[in-house]
Amino acid sequence: MTSKILLYYKFQPVADPDAVRLWQRDLCEGLGLKGRIIVSKDGINGTVGGDIRACKTYAKKTREYFKDMEFKWSDGSADDFPKLSVKARDEIVAFGAPGELKVDEHGVVGGGEHLTPQQVNELVAEKPDAVFFDGRNAREAEIGRFKGAVVPDVETTHDFIKELDSGKYDWMKDKPVISYCTGGIRCEVLSSLMINRGFQEVYQIDGGIVRYGEQFGNSGLWEGSLYVFDDRMHTEFGAENDPDYVQLGHCVHCGEATNQFYNCANEPECRRQYLSCETCRETNPYCGQCA
Ligand SMILES: [Zn+2]
Ligand SMILES: [Zn+2]
Repeated sequence: MTSKILLYYKFQPVADPDAVRLWQRDLCEGLGLKGRIIVSKDGINGTVGGDIRACKTYAKKTREYFKDMEFKWSDGSADDFPKLSVKARDEIVAFGAPGELKVDEHGVVGGGEHLTPQQVNELVAEKPDAVFFDGRNAREAEIGRFKGAVVPDVETTHDFIKELDSGKYDWMKDKPVISYCTGGIRCEVLSSLMINRGFQEVYQIDGGIVRYGEQFGNSGLWEGSLYVFDDRMHTEFGAENDPDYVQLGHCVHCGEATNQFYNCANEPECRRQYLSCETCRETNPYCGQCA
C-alpha cells in the first residue's frame, strides 16, 4: 500500500467556516487521513497524509468546494502526523490582520503580482534595483535565502505588521520587491499587506522557494538550505556535495559552518532552535542564550 502527503491551500470566500470544518473532519476520518487543516472565512490551508487512493478521493471531494485547488503531492504517510486536527480560525495564516485581508472567488484581492521561477530571474536581470524580501521568520533565513535578500526581524508571522509599520523598510517602497516564503501561502497575505502600506511594486513567487529550488537548484538566485518544519529541519536542492551549494549558517558555539538546527536541551524552559556543529552538540547541547 502506497501512502502520500498532500499539501495545499486556497484563498476563496467561505460563508460558513464551521460547516466546512465539520465536513472536512468527517471526510478525513472516513478516509483514514491524518494531518492538520485550518479553515477560515478566507479559505483553507492543509497538510494531510494517508493511503494514496484515500488522498485521491480527498482531493477530488475537496475540489468540489474549493474549485481548481492545486495539491502538492509528496512522500510520506498518515504516520507522519500525531493525529487529525481540523480547526476553524480567524485566519489561515496568522498575521494578526483578519480584518485587512480581502478575498474573492479569484483569490486574494490586491496581492503581489505572481512570478514563475523563470520570471523571477528575468525581473532581476531587467531591474537591478529589485529587492528580495524574506517572508519567513529570521531563523529560517540563517541557513538559506535569496541573494542579497532583506530579512525582517521577525520571530513569528505575527511580527510582520509591526515590522512593516516601523518605517525600517520605507526605502523599498518605490523599488521592485520580490516577497518569498517556503511554499507561497504566506506571501499571498504578506504581499497584500505591503501593498496596503504603500509598497508600489510587489511580487510573489508561484509555489515559493520550493518551486524555485526545484527548477534552478543551486545555480539560480537562491543560496543555501531550505528550512523545513519536520524532523529534518533543513533540505537542499542540489545533489550532495554540489559545488554550487553555499553553506550560510554557523555554529553558535564555535562558528564552524553548519546548516543543522537543534532544539535546545534545556526544554521545556527554553524553546529555542539554534545552529550547531555536531562536535559542539555532543559537549554542549544548549542554545547558549538561556541559563
Ligand atoms: Zn561548533
Ligand atoms: Zn536554550
